[in-house]
Amino acid sequence: MSVRDFLSKRYTAALSAILRFKRQHKMTLLKILHHPDPRLRTKATPVETFDSGLTAFAQNMLETMYAAPGIGLAATQVNVHKRIIVVDVSEANDQPHTLINPVLETHGKKIKSEEGCLSVPEIYESVERFEYVNVTAQGVDGRPIEFTADGMLSICIQHECDHLEGKLFVDYLSSLKRGRISKKLRERVR
Ligand SMILES: [Zn+2]
Repeated sequence: MSVRDFLSKRYTAALSAILRFKRQHKMTLLKILHHPDPRLRTKATPVETFDSGLTAFAQNMLETMYAAPGIGLAATQVNVHKRIIVVDVSEANDQPHTLINPVLETHGKKIKSEEGCLSVPEIYESVERFEYVNVTAQGVDGRPIEFTADGMLSICIQHECDHLEGKLFVDYLSSLKRGRISKKLRERVR
């Protein structure tokens, strides 16, 4: 084999490795619905099939959330009406939670905190949530998950689970404030 053949083979191998990497890491960003889209009001149904399609979809949800950027996303927001949420409140984006069929038990007192939503862009308002939440859910492989969350993670999980019921954080605000927000969003679309 000539040097040229050798180099050309190495080059081809390197190129196909790069292409393979790009294929494996190809990001699929899902389209996020914006308030007041009526599809955001759909109540999600339970996930019954745990297959590679679910794993891929959950991965796409995480990538869409990180790219937005956001700290939580519910399947409802990308027009898939199944009980799936993803959250990651870590600064380094390295603590993702993918929760399938989540059920919440809220505890503690109610606390106020500023919330935003990828479906209600650039609007931040103070909302009351419970301090602690006990979560039972399933992983993408169907295995049971149970944990208790507090702080930002607790708030974020409560916010995302509301989406699965067709509920938005602006629903907690006064009708006057809600009206102002709808007007602002409609003007922005125009
Ligand atoms: Zn939201």
